[in-house]
Amino acid sequence: MQLILLGPPGSGKGTLAEDIASLYGIPHISTGAIFRASVADDTPLGRAAEPYLVKGALVPDDLTNAMIKDRLSQPDCREGFLLDGFPRTMPQAEKLGRLLGRLGRPLTAVLNIVVSDETILQRLAGRRHCVSCGRSYNVVFMPPRLPGICDDCQGRLVQRADDKEEIIRQRLVTYKQQTEPLIAYYKAQGLLINADNEGSIEDCRQQVRSKLAAAVSSGGV
Ligand code: AMP
Repeated sequence: MQLILLGPPGSGKGTLAEDIASLYGIPHISTGAIFRASVADDTPLGRAAEPYLVKGALVPDDLTNAMIKDRLSQPDCREGFLLDGFPRTMPQAEKLGRLLGRLGRPLTAVLNIVVSDETILQRLAGRRHCVSCGRSYNVVFMPPRLPGICDDCQGRLVQRADDKEEIIRQRLVTYKQQTEPLIAYYKAQGLLINADNEGSIEDCRQQVRSKLAAAVSSGGV
């Protein structure tokens, strides 16, 4: 099962991706998480990607494509994978199509999470992460028991550098310019499944689960 998850930053993709990946027993591959880990580990990839991440701009396609090609060749991808945050540009989508064609592993479906800009700004500005275990919170919608402290491990909660309002606005502009065209591209291929996440994440999770199950059992979208 080869899946792509599309949706603007802050649409809830990360949470939904974890759910789908564990439901189908496939790895959740988040290019953003791989880039952030590479920056934290100060690897050559991290040093090349960091200037783009801090501005909310996209890392160049050649770096991103090489990274994903390597990741998809890992043994845990044999039964499938869920891509979160990739592809994000038309050249990336075309490159992925050629790669999967060579591997004989066509896409099963492309999930598109739909949320308005206002909701995203509200959600992302309140988002916090534990520096120790990575658990996410939201100061408005899902606060920790004690302000600034992780419920699970008592780690310190911090805001991601690119979750500041002006950077979020830039990430939304980047998404509209570079990534939104992929929605029509995958719709034309008959692969698109839309799910609305304007309400609760639980409601969206149920939509995604049932629409995906229907697509898988009918052999396509
Ligand atoms: P995300 O966690 O998916 O919002 O990604 C965080 C940041 O990582 C983005 O703002 C980009 O700088 C970079 N990034 C993630 N995925 C890609 C991609 N497919 N192409 C280029 N840059 C990416």
